[in-house]
Amino acid sequence: MNCVDCSIGQYKLREHCGVFGIAGSRHAALHAFRGLYALQHRGQEGAGIVSTDGKSLYEHKNLGLVNEVFKDKRIFEKLKGTFAIGHNRYSTAGETNYINVQPITINFKMGVISAVHNGNLTNAIQLKKGMEEDGSIFQTTSDTEVILHLLARAPSNELYLMIIDALKKINGAYSLLFLSPESLIAVRDPRGFRPLNIGKLGEAYIFASESCAFDILGAEYIRQLEPGELVVVDRNLNLQSFSPFPPRENRICIFEFIYFSRPDSTIFNTSVDKVRRSFGRQLAREHPASADIVISVPDSSNTAAVGYGQETGIPYDHGLIRNHYIGRTFIMPEQDIRDADVLIKYNPVREVLKGKRVVVVDDSIVRGTTSRKLVRMIRQGGAREVHFRVASPQIKYPCFYGIDTPTSQELIASQKTVEEIRAYLDADSLGYLSKEGMLSVKELPSVQYCTACFDGAYPV
Ligand code: 5GP
Ligand code: SF4
Ligand code: MG
Repeated sequence: MNCVDCSIGQYKLREHCGVFGIAGSRHAALHAFRGLYALQHRGQEGAGIVSTDGKSLYEHKNLGLVNEVFKDKRIFEKLKGTFAIGHNRYSTAGETNYINVQPITINFKMGVISAVHNGNLTNAIQLKKGMEEDGSIFQTTSDTEVILHLLARAPSNELYLMIIDALKKINGAYSLLFLSPESLIAVRDPRGFRPLNIGKLGEAYIFASESCAFDILGAEYIRQLEPGELVVVDRNLNLQSFSPFPPRENRICIFEFIYFSRPDSTIFNTSVDKVRRSFGRQLAREHPASADIVISVPDSSNTAAVGYGQETGIPYDHGLIRNHYIGRTFIMPEQDIRDADVLIKYNPVREVLKGKRVVVVDDSIVRGTTSRKLVRMIRQGGAREVHFRVASPQIKYPCFYGIDTPTSQELIASQKTVEEIRAYLDADSLGYLSKEGMLSVKELPSVQYCTACFDGAYPV
């Protein structure tokens, strides 16, 4: 199975993003800025905020990191009002495009509305095609605009009912926030692929992909939005919850626990740190090693590597140091430097690695190219043996629901056996966490998970 079906037309699929919303704060836009800053890891291509004072919507968005987009603090004087939504956009290379930066705002019969979206619709192309044949003109190539078009055509005259009507036509993953001058509306798809949480700061309600966006504001985590739940917060800060969709079997994205979310976050009402650490422990039980130290590939596998160390009793150490100041446009003029990208990002700590048998734990292997360069780097740093351990199963299938995984041809585990991958990485041994082992971890909430990138069982 490959991604050809998904990449027809001008669609940018597999986007993965962070969303934030706040209702009832005197500093709504500023709080949205801080929330997005905490969610920066979920998307670095572009950022934007739309606010409202109950009369109009005010917007600022651009390509770049949150800090770059909102560098000029006078922007916050323009972003008036006590309600706001914001978005961090994630996109694969080569499709950087201002028109797709969110929030996306439209005018329609009810006035003006803005939306932010984390996820990926699997029937967006058909829906868009149908509407274009009916004469609709699209400004962007994003799924979010498809939702807004459906909404504008809905027969009802009540905004939340129009949203429900639109969402009943779409399939796939969505955690969405809508902002109109009258209300903020949050909704999560009935399968619950992507996280979305409710928090509180004084009187204000906050919505965010991950709870780290509440912590940065000193806000309190309340609960997750349930799969299929829709919440409306009006100007008087009345919160109403609806369950408008027929219940579906859940498909929580297990990859949020493996890689995407921050370990200090709570998502799906569960601590990411706890789950990720247990993945490391389970990996150690399945694939122990005779070694002197355990190291991580900072920062994404730190927590799993700690778990591996705890279970085996092998000391966890810092054998690779990561440079945190790499801009997205770092240019290396000397193209002939071998492994330049990895050298820019990581450096081995020779004092730690010298003469050691090293277990290196990573959260996942996608293409295998980084992993191969890292093994070489760890050896050049003086390691005597390198035992590669992966705190997730083999990624064999692309994701259609919002994570950037390439086509199957590029996924090393869909092309090679574990032994062939070990040889390619030039590691002394290689072990992946099994799917059964991953799902058996008791810290994982007992709901249904999407594991399609491992087993190809696409739920929608
Ligand atoms: P590889 O060896 O496959 O080239 O790279 C593996 C690294 O990619 C891992 O350290 C992992 O943290 C990171 N990774 C895993 N999933 C994703 C993803 O969806 N997007 C990006 N950008 N990186 C990922
Ligand atoms: Fe998450 Fe993988 Fe399912 Fe995509 S295919 S939603 S990354 S579990
Ligand atoms: Mg990594």
